[in-house]
Parts: sequence; C-alpha cells; structure tokens
Amino acid sequence: VARYVTFGDPPLAGLVEGEEIVSLDRSLREAISHAAIGGLEPPLDAPRFRLSDVALHAPVPDPGAVFGIGLNYRMHAEETGRPSPERPLVFAKMAGAVTGPAGPVALPAATNALDYEGELAVVIDGHGGVFGYTVADDVTARDLQRSEAQWARAKGGDGFCPMGPWVVTADEAGDPASGWSLRTWVNGELRQDARTDDLLFGVPEVLSFIGETCTLRAGDVILTGTPAGVGVAMDPPRFLAVGDEVRIAIEGIGEIAHRVVARDQWRAARP
Ligand code: MG
Repeated sequence: VARYVTFGDPPLAGLVEGEEIVSLDRSLREAISHAAIGGLEPPLDAPRFRLSDVALHAPVPDPGAVFGIGLNYRMHAEETGRPSPERPLVFAKMAGAVTGPAGPVALPAATNALDYEGELAVVIDGHGGVFGYTVADDVTARDLQRSEAQWARAKGGDGFCPMGPWVVTADEAGDPASGWSLRTWVNGELRQDARTDDLLFGVPEVLSFIGETCTLRAGDVILTGTPAGVGVAMDPPRFLAVGDEVRIAIEGIGEIAHRVVARDQWRAARP
C-alpha cells in the first residue's frame, strides 16, 4: 500500500514502508504537483525514520483549499431534520483549521455545542483528480452553524480539521463506492457506524460539481460528508467537552484520535 505522511520541522513528506518513513525531502503538495517527474519517489539514500518516533502533521498541512460537503448521507440529513439536498451542498473550511491526526481541537468560549463529524477526505492530484484518501474530523460548532448564515466560524475554528494519519493513494485504496466502514467513537463509545457507499453524491460527482466553478489543485482537500450519529442529533444532544477524545477509523485507510482542549490553553501553547 502506498501511504504518504508529513512529519518534522520543516514539514516534509515521507513514504511509509512498513514501520519506517522514507523522507521525500519536499512537501507533499510539491511532491504531488511533481508526480510526473518522480516527485513522489524518495531520492536514493533518502533518510529513514521510524514511524513511531515522529509526530505526524496532517498529510497536507497547508492545503490551498479545504472543501466540505454537507448532508451527504441520507440518514444524517434525516437526523438533522433537513431534506436530502438535490445537488451537493458545498462549503469551505478554513485551511488554517487543518491540524495533525492527533489534533488537538481548540474549544472556543464562543460555542456551547462543539461536535464531531467523522469523514472520508479526498486529497486532489496534479490534474484535478483523486490522489488519495485520508481520515478527517469536520469539527463543527452547532450553535454558530445555526445562528450564522456562513459557516466560516462554525467549521473553520483553530484545529477544527484534524486529518491523517496518512494519505493512501487511490490506486491502492480502491473505490469508496465499494463501501468502506467508517466509525467514530467519543471516549470509547461508538457514535457513528456507516459505510462510504451510502454517500448521496459520490466522489466523482462531488469533484465534477466543485469543478464547475473552482479548479481543484494538487493537495486540495475535500471532506465528503458525515454519516448519522453526530452529538447534536442525540436525545438529549451531547456535545464535546475539554478532555474528550474523538477517534475515527475508516477501513483500509487508517485511524485518527484527537483530544479537545480549551482554546486559551491551545493559544498559550503556541508561539
Ligand atoms: Mg461534515
């Protein structure tokens, strides 16, 4: 399986080989852009690192664009009380929300309703097609999503897009329409349990719909939507609190787990 990670400072891409990472000596976005001239091949005598010794960033820590698709699973549309859309519901997530597979996600004081959305994410290749797949949490402040017409704050907050742990290339991963299991746990409790063949609009349709107005570029990311089982739809609703752990696993792709921390604490830990 061809899997690519991003690690280190400055963040560089690496090819995963067993328990090791072979450094590509360039960012994954650059590597994907230059795929035709061997950009995805590690140089001879490239340094190797043990996977367990490095902290992983998001596979593409600096995407040019992060798109999200809303209400893209019928059962999730139903649980939110909204009709299934007739065309893909596309929104933008702030690229600055992207964080590594271990997060953390910053809980701002401005929300009392932070929620998870386990999702299959597509990473775009140099020709506007699918380079590969990764796992993401489309973290959402439900109260802001409800009260504000645009979702930039509700879905674009600091750390609101944990991703990883790696990108599995499309040729290795196969077709999500074959139905990969997608599951989300909060503090070990299973909340979402679905399959990717339940997507209302599949990956080709979503790419072509976005492409009607936006040229997709190497390293852009599309979060394909979340299935039923989000916290806001529980009775009573159960939102994320500081200290909670969200874990998301997609069959054949990988697994991420991140904690939720107070935003003040999150800011204090940064230069
Ligand atoms: Mg979503």
